[in-house]
This record gives sequence, C-alpha cells and structure tokens, in this order.
Amino acid sequence: MTRKQTKSLVLLQHHLKNLRLPTILRECEKIAARCATDNVDHLGFLLQLCELELIERDRRAAERRLKAAKFPTYKTLETFDFQAQPGLNKLLVSELMRGEFIEQRENILLVGNSGTGKTHLAVALGIAACGQGKRVRFYQVTELITQLMEAREERELTRLKKQLAKLDLLILDELGYVPASKLGSELLFDVISTAYERFSLIVTTNLPFENWTEVLGSERLTGATLDRLTHRCHILETTGESYRLQDAKRRHTKSSSKQPRLTK
Ligand code: ADP
Ligand code: MG
Repeated sequence: MTRKQTKSLVLLQHHLKNLRLPTILRECEKIAARCATDNVDHLGFLLQLCELELIERDRRAAERRLKAAKFPTYKTLETFDFQAQPGLNKLLVSELMRGEFIEQRENILLVGNSGTGKTHLAVALGIAACGQGKRVRFYQVTELITQLMEAREERELTRLKKQLAKLDLLILDELGYVPASKLGSELLFDVISTAYERFSLIVTTNLPFENWTEVLGSERLTGATLDRLTHRCHILETTGESYRLQDAKRRHTKSSSKQPRLTK
C-alpha cells in the first residue's frame, strides 16, 4: 500500500466511525480486495457493504429487543412437543407465530394447568415477535403489580405506563397464582385497559374464568378485565398433567425397565 493509500484508509476509517457504520469499517478492506479479484464494479462494491451493514444492524436490533423483553427462559416452538398436547391447535399456534395478531392488536389467552407449557408457548411467541421487529416485554403478573405499586409510591406511575404503552406486545405470565390486593388489581386492570386495542397481550393463567373474581377481587373489575381481554382474542388451552412430571415418569419407566430384575 502506498503512503497516499494508507492516508486515505485512515481518513476513511475515521469518517466511517463518525457515520456510525461499524460493519463497513470492519469489512471494507476485505470486500474491496474481493471485489477487485471478482471484477465487481464500484456500485456493486458499495452495494455489498451497505447490505452487510444493514444485516448487522438488524441483528443487533433484534438482540437488543430480545434483551429488553426480559424473557425468563429461551424457549422456541422447535423444542415444543405437540404430541404431549394433542388438544392444542398446532395450525393456529404456527399461524400466531407469524405475528399477524400483533398487527391486528389481538390478544392470546393461554389457559391450562401448571406445567403444561403455557410459559413455554408465551416465550416462543414473544421471541418470534422480537425477530419480527416488535417491541416485547415479558412480566410475571406479580412482578408487574409490584413494579406498578412501587412506581405509584415514587410518583413514577405515569412514566412506567408510558413505557408500557410503547410496546407492541405485553406478556403477562401467571395471572391468578397469587390473589392481588385491591390496589394491585386496579393497577393491573389499568394496564390491560391501556393495552386494549392499542397493543397486544398474551396472558397465561391456570385459572378457569369463573375463578377470576377470587384473584381480581371485584366482580365488576373481573367482568371488565375479561371483557377487554377476550374481545379479539385467541384462546389456546393446554391440558393434561405437568410435562415435567410426565417426562420424569417416562424416564423413570425407561430406566426401571433397564434395571436387572431381582429374583426372589
Ligand atoms: P406452565 O407455564 O404451563 O406452568 P411451562 O411452560 O413452564 O408450564 O412448562 C414447564 C416445563 O416443561 C418447561 O421447561 C417447558 O419447556 C416444558 N414443557 C411443557 N410442555 C411442553 C411441551 N409440550 N413440549 C416440550 N416442553 C414442554
Ligand atoms: Mg408458567
């Protein structure tokens, strides 16, 4: 490389840094060399660099969205065993994975016993949405209620609600495990009302609808919450006993059949 070329390269790197084009900065020399051997013209070279920068940018943005969503675990549909849930509408689940329900501001309600894969499905749907450029946040209901109550005490409630209102998808996991206080249920209801027709909700619960009053306290609040949640809503029901339990049983039967029989 001549002195003049070295000088240009240093300047170029400086400009690319200022323009915040880190991928072009990192790759430009390599791609330039490759384009020279492949006889790619200048525009073709520029196109390759821009494409790389965009791909990297999308990847970083998806990573940021995934981090911001605060999923408790990383679960996808690939590891979901549909055979263990024969009652579940697989076609509907695959369709929901495409994320159109978010464009349509529709909700998903996942109902079923503990350990039947509700959180797994909710996380898988959330991860898919992140990949589609959506802003997602996962909360355990109790965690959200605590945050709302704390924010209220610190006069930060408006700020928190504004943050939530920027989401495309809010996942509320485990509605109904712990009966909320009156204030807690009102604050939660407020969030659900804000979401109504503005952004999508995925709610998981082990509670049949008739027991929701126990959790939310008042009949009026329960009625209004159910009304908002179930309007434009897909209901997925998981059935059977806990998957972990079934899994443990299966493994147990396998290993016990391998063990040598003790003869009396
Ligand atoms: P829930 O939220 O309904 O209580 P989880 O989604 O937390 O249940 O499931 C409990 C565990 O069992 C998780 O590790 C989950 O990945 C796994 N699991 C549940 N159902 C299935 C399934 N059908 N296929 C694969 N794993 C499952
Ligand atoms: Mg769960």
